[in-house]
Amino acid sequence: ALKTLSRLDLIERRAFLNGVWTARDEVLGVSDPANGERLAAVAVCSPADADAAVAAARRAFFDWRDRLPAERGMILRLWAKLVRDNARDLATIMTCEQGKPLAEALGEMSYAANFLDWFAAEGERAYGETIPSHLPGSHLSVQMQPVGVTVAITPWNFPAAMIARKAGAALAAGCTMIVKPAPETPLSALALAKLAEEAGMPAGVFQVLTGEAVPLARRLLENTEVRAFSFTGSTEVGRILLTHSAATVKKASLELGGHAPFILFDDVDLARSVSDCISAKFATSGQDCLAANRIYVQRRVYDRFVDAFGLATSQLNVGHGLEPGTDIGPMTRPSVVEKCRQQVSQAVSAGARLVCGGQDSPLGGNFVSPTVLADVTDNMLIAREETFGPVAAILPFDDEADVLARANATEMGLAAYVYTNDLGRAMRLTDRLEYGMVAVNTPKFTGAPIPFGGWKQSGLGREGARHGLLEYLEAKYVCFGNL
Ligand code: ADP
Repeated sequence: ALKTLSRLDLIERRAFLNGVWTARDEVLGVSDPANGERLAAVAVCSPADADAAVAAARRAFFDWRDRLPAERGMILRLWAKLVRDNARDLATIMTCEQGKPLAEALGEMSYAANFLDWFAAEGERAYGETIPSHLPGSHLSVQMQPVGVTVAITPWNFPAAMIARKAGAALAAGCTMIVKPAPETPLSALALAKLAEEAGMPAGVFQVLTGEAVPLARRLLENTEVRAFSFTGSTEVGRILLTHSAATVKKASLELGGHAPFILFDDVDLARSVSDCISAKFATSGQDCLAANRIYVQRRVYDRFVDAFGLATSQLNVGHGLEPGTDIGPMTRPSVVEKCRQQVSQAVSAGARLVCGGQDSPLGGNFVSPTVLADVTDNMLIAREETFGPVAAILPFDDEADVLARANATEMGLAAYVYTNDLGRAMRLTDRLEYGMVAVNTPKFTGAPIPFGGWKQSGLGREGARHGLLEYLEAKYVCFGNL
């Protein structure tokens, strides 16, 4: 499929270091998770390359920092335009290495481009403040200045958007950034770098370092010149990276795991809620930190919901993401297949009811049959851990206070969904849910202008919105005295 791209040069195998496309003798294979077909092999960068990238990013920083925000914005906007112009090729590359259906990959390109455009403008609004003085004859002010060299460690489930969300903010703020993409999806990152270069990105401002995650991440986080890092991935890995960065006291932004409750009361339109819940559960083939991992349904509509949700799930098309009509692609990582299998078998043996799916996919390999489990209880594995695959868990509930307590009884706190037409109830729940994001009566709420992020062990900091820019800025208080 990659042979059909209009621009074959978007398939890049070399790392992008200090404005130079750099090949390495050692390479890492990238394969199509749907069929194991080898797509390409990318450079394995060494820890010495990581050091050189930091030095280059540091040199590039001084000029980039001093440019007018509008000038940085022009480059980001041109980059966004190139992402839109080449969306079809970028989406095809992504579907091949990541597995998601092409329509979702195309959606991700527009999501990614929106971050670049949005931050291009927000960079011009990095306002400071003046403070009425408490000292005689003094002027007090605060300026916001870029933190310096930054690092992004990005995941395989949104291989383009997570880079754009971080780089858009960092670069608009006047920082330089080194991206270490997930080893499963480096081609999307490198294609973005190619377009950044075309947009006129100065050497060293944006770099992509490919290779083995552990040695590269470690080296980057040990480097004192790296002042901030942003990570999206599992809570487990986020904790390791936060520990590594502690020795040099870096600013840290972490977008970690989720375990979203989807709370559905009996006063809603059932047909619409079922279809919204299908989106909230099965987007990105379930490999999504916003996925509805615990679907709580009020008793009076429980049986009807389970039947309708099971029916809708059994109609999802599983296949290669490039085949028209595919809803669910392969899992990007084989470990997800195993995790789904474990959660299903543990739940069934503990008394959950298999409504549909459950067996190994006839397509084999990294495919998982979309599965619905009903009568799930809070102590089952699937109700305690993020699934990250197309397995839905439905749990009945009776009253509001009870479901609220159950929804909050987790160390995760990324997103929660509430479905009700009772305004008072919606208000009470949005006030009390311990989550960074709460969506009422909609599965769609993300985008460039909103502060994306989690409470508790779902992360630190926010991405997108004016909050996202702050992750890359330091406050500098200035006092002019004896005036
Ligand atoms: P997931 O669990 O969703 O696959 P991970 O947290 O494993 O996500 O991976 C997200 C990113 O973290 C990827 O870029 C991956 O290469 C990197 N990564 C994974 N393990 C480590 C580690 N021990 N040290 C540094 N980076 C890691």
